[in-house]
Amino acid sequence: MASSSSACSYINADTQTPRRRHTVSGTGMTASSPLKVIVVGAGLGGLACAIAIARKGIHVVLLEQAHILGEVGAGIQIPPNSTSILRNLGLFDKFQDVIVWPQSVFVRRYSDGQVLGTTPLNPYLTQRYGSPYWFIHRADYHRILHDAAVENGVDIHINSRVVSVDETAPSATLATGEVFEADLVITADGIRSRIRDQLFPELNDDVYVASNVSAYRACVSGERMQSDPELRDLLDDPGATSWIGPGRHIMAYPIRDKSIYNLVMLYPGDTAPGIWNSRGDIAEMRAEYKGWDPKLTKVISMIEDCLTWKICYVRELPTWVSASGKVVLLGDAAHATVPFLAQGAAMALEDGVTLAECLDRAHSKADIPKLMHLYEKIRKARCTRVQLGSMQNGDVWHLADGPEQQNRDSLMAAEEAKRVEGAKVERKIPEPSMEIPSYNLKNPLFWSDDEFQPWLFGHDAVKTADLYLTQAGY
Ligand code: FAD
Repeated sequence: MASSSSACSYINADTQTPRRRHTVSGTGMTASSPLKVIVVGAGLGGLACAIAIARKGIHVVLLEQAHILGEVGAGIQIPPNSTSILRNLGLFDKFQDVIVWPQSVFVRRYSDGQVLGTTPLNPYLTQRYGSPYWFIHRADYHRILHDAAVENGVDIHINSRVVSVDETAPSATLATGEVFEADLVITADGIRSRIRDQLFPELNDDVYVASNVSAYRACVSGERMQSDPELRDLLDDPGATSWIGPGRHIMAYPIRDKSIYNLVMLYPGDTAPGIWNSRGDIAEMRAEYKGWDPKLTKVISMIEDCLTWKICYVRELPTWVSASGKVVLLGDAAHATVPFLAQGAAMALEDGVTLAECLDRAHSKADIPKLMHLYEKIRKARCTRVQLGSMQNGDVWHLADGPEQQNRDSLMAAEEAKRVEGAKVERKIPEPSMEIPSYNLKNPLFWSDDEFQPWLFGHDAVKTADLYLTQAGY
């Protein structure tokens, strides 16, 4: 597990020069009145946002509390609504050496591995929506974004924990007492955002909510699996496999040139919320999936180490924008979701490019509050739909054996039969829209649903922002 869960250390805290009071100097808008932006948090969301804004010629300071930058955890899925953004940011080619191109997502019955449903990924999604679906190691994803941020002139400060934000200035104060001032503060400090709590004290503690499941996270050596003829196809025919069962599921897929098989294993355990990445008990973990598909349990028997934590989410907030309109939330800080549609980071990237489009339309600093409310208007309903869809998907996957589960499986079987018969691949890039799909999807495999799939994967965040900002007179 060490190779897969370690944080990468491409920035060293020692290289930082101590400073006291800073005014972020910008080059965007007009030279006489440059725009200045602070982003708090260098996770995937904060980095992507900083890159997108810097590419508009605006100077960005990125403040990150960690003294070594990196991402904990192993795999992450990058869906087409994110790969299109990476292309837009000029980063598509930089990913080619470190991604796995999966063919499909298979949903299998927990007990015997029978395929219940399949969503074809590559090349199908590119043919449909113009962009592919990838798997990647989180550390590789983070490193590429970090390098791109540096190349685009983002001023990154590590070891810089923000303890408070003055939303009227606006400014961000570090634990050291240093104060950074700008025209806008973007808060990308994650699901347990302290700044969110400070901006909206009336929301109390019930914003950050524990779901009814916990997760184990583990990796198995791809080499070891390759040497077992029964397991080889999980790597040779790369795809994601989700084994779904009562109250539990396991999502697994290969990363890093298939040298790692990454597993996220959901179970109804009650680990304490807020304590992330505690070491899991291997025997207890194996017991959760006793009697599951023998092929899967063989993979599980190869796990030597696992981490566990409670899956939490952020309840829909009344607003993402501070009273002054000069501090906004982004990514998990605004709308962390249970991960059952693999869309959390994708939503953070969409937020980031939307904010960049908004700032690009500012005629003067006075436009910022109005543009931030437009940012919220463009993004919030979509993120909330993804949050609710993710929870709904968990409910569908976790059905107990019985009539509802049988109904789900026969609907999936009917969709699978249609797919195998050879549904035509039609180009389905939807027009930019803020409409959201209904909550009664026809296909219990949401990723394949005729209404939900184009809405989710075919979304172009830049075009959508462009359309709505233009309509709003910007
Ligand atoms: P974070 O990644 O949490 O980053 C926040 C950053 O802010 C951190 O670097 C932190 O150190 C810093 N910070 C915090 N407080 C301060 C402070 N006071 N001062 C300065 N810095 C601060 N999404 C997908 O798109 N695809 C997937 O396949 C997928 N799989 C997932 C599987 C699991 C099991 C889970 C739990 C999530 C998954 N997600 C997935 C969701 C995704 O991981 C998150 O949505 C995404 O990483 C959030 O990014 P972020 O930048 O908003 O927040």
